[in-house]
Amino acid sequence: MRGGGVMNDKPRVGEPSTDHRPVCAFSAKPGAPQCVERATFHIRVISIEWGEVALATCDAHAPIARSTGIVHDEHEFTGCCGMEPVVWMGDHCALFVTEAEPH
Ligand SMILES: [Zn+2]
Ligand SMILES: [Zn+2]
Repeated sequence: MRGGGVMNDKPRVGEPSTDHRPVCAFSAKPGAPQCVERATFHIRVISIEWGEVALATCDAHAPIARSTGIVHDEHEFTGCCGMEPVVWMGDHCALFVTEAEPH
């Protein structure tokens, strides 16, 4: 008897999204609805499929996101992660601003 849900498909994440909801970007296959879990990790990966990308992922899908390429860096998915324009600062993302902080 075969169990269902065997993940023998190539791991992948969803299409690049332009909405900035802090949700996991994983989808089981192209065009499939993406995961609805809150993103907890932001993983910067160099993938043969997309080049260098930053992936928002939940706990469960973090290993899959990491497996899509060479992990360059990763951090907890927090405030500015996933927004545009944002700068990858190593352990967090910061909004890209040209002015100094307001005082
Ligand atoms: Zn997920
Ligand atoms: Zn980030």
